Amino acid sequence: MSTLTVEQITALRQDFPILDQEVNGKPLVYLDNAATSQKPQAVLDALQAYYTRDNSNVHRGAHTLSNRATERFEAARETVRAFLNARETAEIVWTRGTTEAINLVAQSWGRTFLKRGDLAVITALDHHSNIVPWQILREQLGIELAHVPVTPDGHLDQDAYDQLLKRGPKLVAFNQVSNAIGTRNPAAEMIRKAREAGAITVLDGAQATPHFRVDVQALDCDFYAFSGHKVFGPTGIGALYGRRELLEAMPPWHGGGEMIEHVTLEGFIPNALPFKFEAGTPAIAQVVGLAAAIDYLNAQDRQALEAHELNLLKMATDGVREIPGARILADHTDKVAVLSFLIEGTHPADIGTLLDQQGIAVRTGHHCTMPLMQHFGVPGSVRASFAFYNTEEDVRRLLEGLKKVLRFLL
Ligand code: PLP
Repeated sequence: MSTLTVEQITALRQDFPILDQEVNGKPLVYLDNAATSQKPQAVLDALQAYYTRDNSNVHRGAHTLSNRATERFEAARETVRAFLNARETAEIVWTRGTTEAINLVAQSWGRTFLKRGDLAVITALDHHSNIVPWQILREQLGIELAHVPVTPDGHLDQDAYDQLLKRGPKLVAFNQVSNAIGTRNPAAEMIRKAREAGAITVLDGAQATPHFRVDVQALDCDFYAFSGHKVFGPTGIGALYGRRELLEAMPPWHGGGEMIEHVTLEGFIPNALPFKFEAGTPAIAQVVGLAAAIDYLNAQDRQALEAHELNLLKMATDGVREIPGARILADHTDKVAVLSFLIEGTHPADIGTLLDQQGIAVRTGHHCTMPLMQHFGVPGSVRASFAFYNTEEDVRRLLEGLKKVLRFLL
């Protein structure tokens, strides 16, 4: 796989003005990309242009600005359709992000098609946003919730998964990539098996979409969720892909404007897809910004970006491995560029604070995956998560920074 040259990385970095600043008197090293990624100038320009020229409410318009806003809004839906390779734009529902998308599936599909005693399967590798919505549903309906355990090296236990499938779950929900440790799950195979077992599948793509191309038809999943802010777009916007037949059969979740075709004081007729699930004024500028982020990504050689990120991961992993007392969670190579680790005798939060004093941003804590941290028997970890705009110099700064921190702490 070809990677990026130093010149290409330098040029890419110029697209991200936020990277060019000092934090605590040192040039910023931003290694918290799994929490949220930075935005290229193209996204900032799209937001500015939208609010400067086109801002208006969508779909209601008898005037030019409203028509322009609507055109941009619906063109963005086509951009997201192509980004996920969904069959049609009717299958793309705007949400605030991955969390809201999964809650939509739980509360609309789940509450309608699951009943007391039905089995739903999640995993111990999931983010809280793919755990708690199903726990809420369990409280509401009395469904049974089981999870696929994680192996000591940070993979999903596929034998345990096969055993759970034999019990005939109605739903299987899991992440394509783990945010806390970077593990890339064998999603297509897991979906195929779930389908054979008669389950519908919900894929959390929050950490996959920033790193590699996704194809919901090739994956053959029923639902797919992702967040704009993780793919270099704005916060407050994301999307749910759903197979048309399933979306058609689901009742609306939120009620209000836009999601109706007709309302009387006696009742309402829901709107067509995908608007049936889009109550209220949507995040129009954010939608436009997300489309700009996807256009930006589409203009890159994504395989080269990924290869570059993986080179950085290898360099950082090799460096951390040499630190006495270092423990890497999921020290394997089926990963995206996320390095999660602890160092004996130190607390992750202290490492994070002391790195920040050197201008290095990492995340520490449980990463919204408390069950996974319980599995590893740790309170949390230090997580360095890379994007394509990170450099070998960033990795050197991280490793030198860690040495300084350890001299201070140990
Ligand atoms: N799933 C995974 C794997 C994530 O990493 C995240 C965010 O960190 C989420 C879901 C939730 O995404 P959001 O907060 O954008 O809804």
